[in-house]
Amino acid sequence: MDLHRTAFYLDGRWVSPAADDTISVENPATEQLVGSVPAGTAADVDRAVAAAHTAFESWAATDPADRAAALDRLHAALTARTDEIARIVALELGTPLKVATRVQAGLPLTVLRGYVELAAAPPATQRVGHSLVVREPIGVVGAITPWNYPLHQVVAKLAPALAAGCTVVLKPSELTPLVAYLLFDAVDEAGLPPGVVNLVTGTGAVVGEAIAGHDGVDMVSFTGSTGTGRRISHLAADRIARVALELGGKSANVILDDADLGAAVKVGVGNALLNSGQTCAAWTRMLVHRSRYDEALALAARAAEGYPLGDPFDAATRLGPLVSSSQRTRVRDHVERGIADGARLLTGGLDAEVPERGHFVAPTVLADVDPDSALAQEEIFGPVLAVIPFDDDDHAVAIANNSRYGLSGAVWSGDDNRALAVARRMRTGAVDINGAAFNPLAPFGGYKQSGIGRELGTFGLDEFLQTKAIQR
Ligand code: NAD
Repeated sequence: MDLHRTAFYLDGRWVSPAADDTISVENPATEQLVGSVPAGTAADVDRAVAAAHTAFESWAATDPADRAAALDRLHAALTARTDEIARIVALELGTPLKVATRVQAGLPLTVLRGYVELAAAPPATQRVGHSLVVREPIGVVGAITPWNYPLHQVVAKLAPALAAGCTVVLKPSELTPLVAYLLFDAVDEAGLPPGVVNLVTGTGAVVGEAIAGHDGVDMVSFTGSTGTGRRISHLAADRIARVALELGGKSANVILDDADLGAAVKVGVGNALLNSGQTCAAWTRMLVHRSRYDEALALAARAAEGYPLGDPFDAATRLGPLVSSSQRTRVRDHVERGIADGARLLTGGLDAEVPERGHFVAPTVLADVDPDSALAQEEIFGPVLAVIPFDDDDHAVAIANNSRYGLSGAVWSGDDNRALAVARRMRTGAVDINGAAFNPLAPFGGYKQSGIGRELGTFGLDEFLQTKAIQR
């Protein structure tokens, strides 16, 4: 694929942007500039929204089987690009190629496949007395996405929106925009009707604000930081537009005294380090029963040391760089402050050896973390694990819930009912018991400041529907 892209995808074709400005794309492992995309303007967003608006009526009225067939063609065109998707994400984000292939390319394909099936069934109607209750697509959706799972986060919005009969204007992250171009190459090949999906790249301050505040956008579906989610809510509130927000997290991995400690710590460390810790649902707080605490600390340090840092294209690499220099600085500042606040460094840290070039931070495990400290409260978005001891199940639940976030979490116990009881008391959108696998059809989303609404599966599709009561 050409890494220097110069056009937007509007109304079913590649068109020139309104202005000439561009945004450079960096390889975070080498700090070299490897590509560029246009920096869009409000005028580009106007064109995209107009195209989506024009396309809406006919797409909404399209037979669900035909919408499913269009998504199926898109799935085929994207599947043909699997290796290229993994390579582009490894290049612009730094995810190790093996992980990029499995997660960054594999997961969105699985999600899209699921929506091919869900799109084929029309939304259920209901009778309520003499009312017929019908579900209808909400209209034009503005999708604004971040850089950490740059294709998955797009597909998790675009696929259900299209399946529901909505049309879409997408703005991907300016840090990782290239993989979205691959998606739109696939859209073009699949022959989706003009205007049904539109791409405008650019900054959040210009293109993101223009989408979120646009009168022609009926719903804004956003994934990113809680601060930006707040801003988008305010912009959408001015015209009472619906928002769906997938925001930050600080999830707790609760390891009870009767857990299989080896598995719990190994899987827990792997989860916290996935994608260099740049995962909103990462279990970044490991809560361990005091009777197993020292044993867990030794296991956690050893597990983290088993993640070699390096070139994402090298098969031996398990941990790539962070996405940007500013992200690296933020993460290092958090580690420094955490140690100043009393946390005990077990492995990694600021002086650990890392490759000379690239935005690398060594996998870092900190013990004795105060549950109220910034290290336990702030989303760090780096390869940093905070370990905290607890005395009993009530204490574990209290620490787990001591967070303004509530996106994900885990419980480990030899007793399934005990684990379930703890899981049900956790104020969070998802809990995995004893390392149960991620379910791409289950609802994904946050309690508290982790967001509003759910993505994936039928719950994700519901977000893009309106409800109408017809009396007769
Ligand atoms: P971010 O909020 O800075 O940016 C996300 C997107 O919003 C980007 O496309 C950006 O250009 C755009 N944006 C920025 N300012 C905007 C504005 N004023 N108006 C409209 N759009 C604007 O987040 P990020 O740094 O790209 O991503 C990291 C954050 O995202 C982390 O906090 C992480 O937890 C969160 N995240 C959450 C989920 C989830 O599903 N809950 C998934 C991934 C990332």
